[in-house]
Amino acid sequence: MFKINENYLKLPGSYLFSTIGKKVAAYSAAHPDKAIIRLGIGDVTQPLAPAVIEAMHKAVDEMGDAASFRGYAPDLGYEFLRTAIARGDYAGRGADIQADEIFVSDGAKCDSGNIQEIFSLDNKIAVCDPVYPVYVDTNAMAGRTGEYDPKTERWSRVIYMPCTAENGFAPELPDETPDLIYLCFPNNPTGAAITREQLQVWVDYANRVGAVIIYDAAYEAYISEERIPHTIYECEGARSCAIELKSFSKNAGFTGVRLGYTVVPKDLKCRDVSLHALWARRHGTKYNGAPYIIQRAGEAVYSEAGREQLAKQVQTYMYNAKTIREGLKAAGYTVYGGINAPYIWLKTPGKMTSWEFFDYLLEEANVVGTPGAGFGPSGEGYFRLTAFGSYENSVAALERIRKL
Ligand code: PLP
Repeated sequence: MFKINENYLKLPGSYLFSTIGKKVAAYSAAHPDKAIIRLGIGDVTQPLAPAVIEAMHKAVDEMGDAASFRGYAPDLGYEFLRTAIARGDYAGRGADIQADEIFVSDGAKCDSGNIQEIFSLDNKIAVCDPVYPVYVDTNAMAGRTGEYDPKTERWSRVIYMPCTAENGFAPELPDETPDLIYLCFPNNPTGAAITREQLQVWVDYANRVGAVIIYDAAYEAYISEERIPHTIYECEGARSCAIELKSFSKNAGFTGVRLGYTVVPKDLKCRDVSLHALWARRHGTKYNGAPYIIQRAGEAVYSEAGREQLAKQVQTYMYNAKTIREGLKAAGYTVYGGINAPYIWLKTPGKMTSWEFFDYLLEEANVVGTPGAGFGPSGEGYFRLTAFGSYENSVAALERIRKL
């Protein structure tokens, strides 16, 4: 009889967003007349920018002509896109990352889940609490996280770094030494960001203890303050201890188009073994390249017109963030985030738990958000709203919440 990967059986309950989906579906079925405003899942709502659409149309035409048709893309991504990324996201910021250190993929979720494959199962991971669930779940599927305790909602082999109002939602160096450290800034779900100096502390620490930082910069485009780093490679020494993940989902609205990349610097080594070589081997074996049409769309993100149009999109979302943030504050809520990230992280009122507040908002205001507890125990008592809706919906949701 075949056997399954039993690590999957250890995974707790259903995934956060499927639980939310079920609750909302049940409420909608019972109240078909209620118009629900969804500020829960971090999905974008604005259409693709004209520069991106134009590049895609052109690429589609090329694919329809034998002379310019392209088959399999290079495993690691087309040179034109990797060069545009190296210039646009790194050289322009004084970060030393070369085009051949960039691996193009179909998004940061896959990369953030797959990257653990090149590390030993003996490695211990450290994550923020609350955290984007993919980091822990994919390590759990691989069998790296020990046993799950439903009471504490924690895995025995994972080092949790609480991020709370007391520490400004910035993790502190852990007492126990980890091998892999997942950091995501600007942060999902808290919307917090850390300064260059704070990130430098982590880079120095990782180099000192021989750990690798897996730095998820999916929300980099939302940074508005000068002191916040756009990439970990702005920090000295990051080339020898950090892998960076990027997505085109939130800066360019590619959630349905699918494009992302991972940076593995050639200086990142385990004794004399290069992690770059391992990831290249993994990528080349298991992945056949992001589609040509999509990579051309990605290239357009870095064009002058693309940059301008996308900066406006980000501004629009951040205007929503400001509106929600200020509005909730005026209504007496304690609110965090929303300055360098499209997420507003609010303290639930009274002694309500995150899920109680979720039900309350759904039923009384017909607004859907995300319970903080779904991102980890330290998220209990908090609630996430996203700025990715339309301005009208953001204002309408705010009004409904204020009326409560
Ligand atoms: N990383 C973080 C922190 C995210 O919040 C998300 C999506 O919400 C992703 C990665 C996934 O990005 P992608 O759409 O590129 O898979």
